[in-house]
Order: sequence, then structure tokens, then C-alpha cells
Amino acid sequence: MEKQQSQKKRVRLVVLRSSVLLLLGLWMLTGQAQEIGRRASGALFGGWNLILVNADHPVPDGFTVELEEIGGGQRVDTRIADALENMLQDARSEGLDPVVCSSYRTQSYQAGLYERKIGQYMDKGYTRASAAAAAARWVAPPGTSEHQLGLAVDIVAGSFQVLDSRQEKTAEQQWLMEHCWEYGFILRYPSDKSDITGIAYEPWHYRYVGEKAAREMTEQGLCLEEYLER
Ligand SMILES: [Zn+2]
Repeated sequence: MEKQQSQKKRVRLVVLRSSVLLLLGLWMLTGQAQEIGRRASGALFGGWNLILVNADHPVPDGFTVELEEIGGGQRVDTRIADALENMLQDARSEGLDPVVCSSYRTQSYQAGLYERKIGQYMDKGYTRASAAAAAARWVAPPGTSEHQLGLAVDIVAGSFQVLDSRQEKTAEQQWLMEHCWEYGFILRYPSDKSDITGIAYEPWHYRYVGEKAAREMTEQGLCLEEYLER
């Protein structure tokens, strides 16, 4: 009788121990799955609109986006099309002529742009390695451009369609820089944040982050990297 009871006890103990191990295993697996999910979403700190893509945070593997045509052969994430259109319309109603000259880019298109920039530096006598480094200041290497998200647009003045620092002086940029946050956009690469963003001043590249984040970043003078690190 006593022997039977102690055997039962031992069985119960074994069952208990296996259950604990099973739960522990499940817990670890869930944790791992969450971690993988986090990585897959590519540093998704606070939602699709705040996804960070830069030299250290490439576009996540398997990233997909639903695109909407916005005219002129340009396409953006469907979710930002209305905000962009409102911003452009309001600028036009002020007598301005903003032109979207770049928007969503595929990986291969970005690769072509990057190679072309490297070629320009190599023509000037740079080695392949130094040309690649110099080019990366102006054109993000494929996989690290937020244009691949469909959340970024390059906008220039109709009367001055040149991508250099003089773009800043146009009435279109002056208006966009002042008002873009009202529509959920930020000037993504300001002149005083190049050391953090890794990208030279681009007074034409606007990125959608949503109205709340755009307002907070503008009020506090933060770039996206700083905002996400708070
Ligand atoms: Zn751009």
C-alpha cells in the first residue's frame, strides 16, 4: 500500500516536472518568435509610419507595401496618398508648383541609382571603395533607402528641378518646410542632423511619419533617429 502511494507520488512528480519543462520550452519559443517578428518588421518601434530605414536598419526581408498611383508615374504607400495630395493641393492653392520627382523605388532601381553615383565618383578618380563610401552620402545603397518603403517623396519646385542645396531657397521648399508637419510629413535629412542620419542635407526629401510624430519632432527639433531613441 505504502509502496503504491510513493509510486503514485513519483509519477505525479514526473508529470509536474515535464509540465514545467514544457511550459518553459513554450515560453522560450514564444519569446524567440516575438524576437524574430520584431526583427522581421525592421525596427518597427511604433507602427508602420515610424519604420526606420537607414544604413544600420535595412528594409526588412519580405517587406511588401500596397502602392497607389499619384500621377506623373509616381507611387506611394496607399495609406499616405491622401495626406500627400492634400499637402500638394494646399501648396498649389498658394500659387506654388510642387513637383514630386521621386517616390517609391524598387530594390533594383535603387541599386541602379547607387551604381550610377559610384560611377560618377570613379570617373573623378576615386577607387571603387572610396567611391562607394562617397556615393552613400548622397544615394542610399540598395536596401537602405526609405524610398523603398513608399513613405518618402522627393519634391522640387516646378521652376527649379535640381537636387542641390539651392532647392532650399525656392518658395515651394520654404512653404513645405514650414507646413509639411501639418500633413504628417517631416524634412527627413535636415542640414544640422547629417551626422546622425548619415545623409547629406536634402531640402527636397519628405518622409511621412504621421501627424502626431511629425508635430512632436518639429516642436522638439528631432530627426527620426532621435525621436525613436527617446
Ligand atoms: Zn529622397
